[in-house]
Amino acid sequence: MLNEAVTSQIDRLQKSLPDKAFIGGAWVSARSGKTLPCIFPGTGETIGTVADCDAADVDDAVRSARAAFEAGTWSRMAPQDRRRIMLRFSELILENRDDLALLETLNVGKPLVNATNGDIPSAAGCVAWFGEAIDKIYGEVGPTDDSMLAIAVREPVGVVGAVVPWNFPLSMAAWKFAPALAAGNSVILKPAEQSPYTALRIAELAVEAGIPEGVFNVLSGYGETAGQALGRHMDVDCLAFTGSTAVGRMFQVYAGESNGKRVSLELGGKSPQVVLADADLDAAAAGVAAGIFSNAGQVCNAGSRVVVQDGIKDKLLEKVVEKAREIIVGDPFDAATKMGPLVSAEQYERVLSYMETGLEQGATIATGGGKLNEETGGYYVAPTIFDNVNNDMRIAREEIFGPVLSVISVKDAEEAVKVANDTDFGLAASVWTNDIRQAQRVSKALRAGVVWVNCFDKGNMSMPFGGFKHSGHGRDKSLHAIDKYTDWKATWFAS
Ligand code: NAD
Repeated sequence: MLNEAVTSQIDRLQKSLPDKAFIGGAWVSARSGKTLPCIFPGTGETIGTVADCDAADVDDAVRSARAAFEAGTWSRMAPQDRRRIMLRFSELILENRDDLALLETLNVGKPLVNATNGDIPSAAGCVAWFGEAIDKIYGEVGPTDDSMLAIAVREPVGVVGAVVPWNFPLSMAAWKFAPALAAGNSVILKPAEQSPYTALRIAELAVEAGIPEGVFNVLSGYGETAGQALGRHMDVDCLAFTGSTAVGRMFQVYAGESNGKRVSLELGGKSPQVVLADADLDAAAAGVAAGIFSNAGQVCNAGSRVVVQDGIKDKLLEKVVEKAREIIVGDPFDAATKMGPLVSAEQYERVLSYMETGLEQGATIATGGGKLNEETGGYYVAPTIFDNVNNDMRIAREEIFGPVLSVISVKDAEEAVKVANDTDFGLAASVWTNDIRQAQRVSKALRAGVVWVNCFDKGNMSMPFGGFKHSGHGRDKSLHAIDKYTDWKATWFAS
């Protein structure tokens, strides 16, 4: 059961969050009148409902987004003015940080402390970063003969659909909508069905900040209905997706079967953490544990495979196991909690079934390996480490998206790189070593969009983030993110 303090907060928040979609600057019910339930993963209780939008609502949102784009009140606004409004939007997110954090925790069960100090300020920071950037991006003047002047300018693509996952609901959304809005586009955001609250809440904040009505629309709904309708819409120019590899590929099909819209994909991973014999083992153990157990392993770049040299494997394992056992798993509203429940019953079953598969295929459990806190009705699992894993096992090849680490031993750096790269994915990787030449060699050889040396999951908005291979293409964060949401136009002037 949820405690009383939390229930009264939910009541207050739900009064300001109707079960409607935000289209054209107003709250509207799904045309079908349907709603979908929101479940708190800490107890399995239904705590509210939101609109269950489908293709008809997507049509409305696209019409509204297109009209706003054509009107030019945002798309042709001076970048300096867009910048000012984006900065105000960011401030409003921060001013509402406590409520937004609570909504995030209610939807996905992450510790409230993390939502308050991580997810929400990070989303606000992203909005501010792209706001700050947008009036500092220049066009080009071409080298032409004297009779001509040629300029190339970036123009917003038009209507952008953003379909995002539940693991960091607001910050993953911000990685899409912030650069898209800053560049002058109209946006339709579809949050994951498990985590619609913060997306809906900030839709109003966007209008309050001064973003014209119709420019930023938020539709809650399921992937197969609302998500697919956005992907297939003939008047959506760009579809930015973060989620699983399987669904990402569907968006490519949707695009191919509709208007050939551009699609960018930030997909899954099976990121290796390579630990070499000369590494600082305490630092590596801390990095490995944080790399797989933060956000209960529900992180696209989770370091879910440790590829470690034989000689130091036992020592490293002992240290990581110790860290895993120290993690307090429990009520996400308790300040002492370090790991909350998994997001949903479906994810719970999936992670538990991978634990069984690991054992069936011959790996051994070094710690964890099952359910926790069953009496709560919530979806809690123990931080789990599998030893004696070989890279062909399913737990080493498939994305589990839970707090489950596979430990794979190798004889030397060369074999480590081979095993690390022997995966369909290529989102992230790390190498732990005190030898600078080894660090250079291995980091260059790792096939991943992000490589960390003697650290894991470090970064800020300034560097691009995205995958190689089946982990997708296109980059979020950094000025490169703007590429997806703009088209270059070349104009030639005759004298
Ligand atoms: P998911 O692919 O199931 O869902 C993501 C989004 O797609 C949701 O909004 C969902 O409603 C929608 N969707 C689902 N089925 C659809 C369909 N048939 N048609 C259209 N839309 C559909 O992923 P998830 O379970 O929400 O998130 C976990 C996945 O996201 C993991 O694979 C993880 O690695 C990935 N992820 C990647 C990154 C990254 O930056 N690379 C970041 C976070 C999460």
